[in-house]
Amino acid sequence: MGVVPKPCGASGGVLMAARNLILSLTAALLCWLSVASADPAQVNRDRLLGAASEPGQWFSRGRDWTGQFYSPLDRINASNVTRLGFAWEYDAGTRRGRVQRGLEATPIVVDGVMYVSLAWSEVVALDARTGTELWRYDPKADGASDRRACCDVVNRGVAVWQSRVYIATIDGYLAALDAKTGREIWRADTFTDRTRSNTITGAPQVAGHVVVIGNGGSEFGVRGYVSAFDVDSGALRWRFYTVPGDPRRGYEHPELRMAAKTWDANSDWLTGGGGSAWDGMAYDPRLNLVYFGTGNSNPYPTWFRSPQRTDNLFLASILAVNPDTGRLKWYYQTTPGEMWDYDATQPLVLADLKIGGRMRQVLMQANKNGFFYVLDRASGKLLSAKNYVYVNWATGVSLATGRPMVTAQSSYKDKPKLIFPGQVGGHNWHPMSYSPQTGLVYIPAIDTPMLFSTAPSYEYRPGEFNMGAAGAFPPVPDEYRQGAPHTEMRAMLLAWDPVGQRAAWQIPQSSYYNGGVLSTAGELVFQGTSSGHLVVYAARTGQVLKDIEVGTGIMAAPSAYELDGQEYVAVLAGFGGGLQKMFPPGAAARTHRNESRLIVFKLDGGATRVTALLEPPAIPEQRYAVSADADTIAGGKTLYMTHCARCHGGFWEDAASGYPDLKRMSAAAHAAFDSIVIDGALRNAGMASFQDVLSRDQAHAIQAYLQTETNRLIDAAQAAHPTH
Ligand code: CA
Repeated sequence: MGVVPKPCGASGGVLMAARNLILSLTAALLCWLSVASADPAQVNRDRLLGAASEPGQWFSRGRDWTGQFYSPLDRINASNVTRLGFAWEYDAGTRRGRVQRGLEATPIVVDGVMYVSLAWSEVVALDARTGTELWRYDPKADGASDRRACCDVVNRGVAVWQSRVYIATIDGYLAALDAKTGREIWRADTFTDRTRSNTITGAPQVAGHVVVIGNGGSEFGVRGYVSAFDVDSGALRWRFYTVPGDPRRGYEHPELRMAAKTWDANSDWLTGGGGSAWDGMAYDPRLNLVYFGTGNSNPYPTWFRSPQRTDNLFLASILAVNPDTGRLKWYYQTTPGEMWDYDATQPLVLADLKIGGRMRQVLMQANKNGFFYVLDRASGKLLSAKNYVYVNWATGVSLATGRPMVTAQSSYKDKPKLIFPGQVGGHNWHPMSYSPQTGLVYIPAIDTPMLFSTAPSYEYRPGEFNMGAAGAFPPVPDEYRQGAPHTEMRAMLLAWDPVGQRAAWQIPQSSYYNGGVLSTAGELVFQGTSSGHLVVYAARTGQVLKDIEVGTGIMAAPSAYELDGQEYVAVLAGFGGGLQKMFPPGAAARTHRNESRLIVFKLDGGATRVTALLEPPAIPEQRYAVSADADTIAGGKTLYMTHCARCHGGFWEDAASGYPDLKRMSAAAHAAFDSIVIDGALRNAGMASFQDVLSRDQAHAIQAYLQTETNRLIDAAQAAHPTH
């Protein structure tokens, strides 16, 4: 019974005042009957369209159908936000192994129950007043998924619809859960080819009678597509490929014939092309169009992928599809000839804006490529595109042609080039927020170049990164800095006027890869930081009004809800995701325990717990007698860099990481090395078997390399402190 909230509470005063006891009892009985029969999670078309009249609810990832991440609540506002404090928290930590994972979802709250997805695609339902767990669903996702995921085993949310909760899992299944119990009602396999490194981290999108889901994997070599399943039965209704396959095999649907005209007939069809739709989706119930963005190319360089015709539809594009038929209504390609990891997957925000004296139904995106796009969402017509961060790959976007004006600096074919924005983008998956009250979009923006270089040659390698290029974070060698305004890793909260196409204000931040944004009718903007703070800004000026340290880095966007006249703000804290393998400067995960938590705040709450400081890493105690010769150890290092460094570090100096540092591996782990690396003893915790790519001898060479590194650490420590 705990699942069903108490809708009768609001009428209690009326009941108490009723003079007629019998009438009162009858009302109570009717109320009790309605509670007993009420199904939780009643989200439907009418409630989504009428969400303005239910300001206390948070129905979907971005609250309502617009994806604005805006709450009409104003009980918490500039006059009282200094009183914001702790309400409750929930241990959202992984229950698989000891590696803490990033959290990226925004809590949905419907009629007093909170639904949120966690790492490893787990889902919890909580009493939104107290945090009491009502159920927790574990899809038991394949631990080998961690090896196929570019960016941690994260999940960006569930969809709640008509008493069901939809979750897409890291290993490619879409499941419908009973919102009351968490019981699985149906489960569909969304992957077409399980030999490829697809994963799902995105939230499903309900659109009419289907639930739509894409996937990721374009860094590894996949062909992008989205799939639509019947909301009731889970039956596949349609599938839309975002890039054509080899034309000699024909086309799955008519749009691909048109798309294929923008590809070289001799393209690298083996790698797959990329274009995976791994995040931003939206649905306009009135236009009956589902929108999604597509990811980067694969391999990145056009000279390896499609040398003659380079636009390559529908890479790096925003598409509108009729969810009843699966047919394309319109597309807009943000980055023709994509070769910089400029996914167009950032969250899509729908709004009505007055542009040029005329109200337009728009779709907005702060694209990874650094341009802020405003499209007419009925027609796909480009209304404006202005850079919101510094860019040097293009000088602008032509409104006449809709195409970017690409610069010579953008091509790294002949020599490495410092390109703005870098691979992380001007803005990544972290939700931006649009406030209809201020007319501003609040963007968790990034201003960082990357040094792009091409591989000398390219050949598809199953199971590995297949980018054919590399992007290096700063520091940048002097010879490549010319003309760059700076060469730092910078981040800022940016308030952007989407009509005037200019910044209203921006706040530089000392931490990097900061959280998604919530704005409220209290004229407030809430954003967590990777440095482990929840910060509240004045929506019109950017003035910091409140700063609460939590100690855990925050990437996810908060949500706001109201119960019994009390407004709450909820946020998932837990760092990881795309930078799980390389904690950036300023990240709390470098200094504090990266404990994954759901934290809820209210006015006049208590003190928020700050996670404990980390101990400095211990010097390994045991020295190893390494019998392997120098060539074997050098070979072990090469194998380590190929297969292990992507997670366990080694590419970057001083790269703190969420994964175990193998140079500090325990003696027990060394004793079990074969069983872990070859036999997959820790596969459920995310450490997959590597027996498909490593022989036992090769594993032993890696181990010998690690043991020499361990010995080197001990030697260095003893040299620094000879008395020990
Ligand atoms: Ca990408």
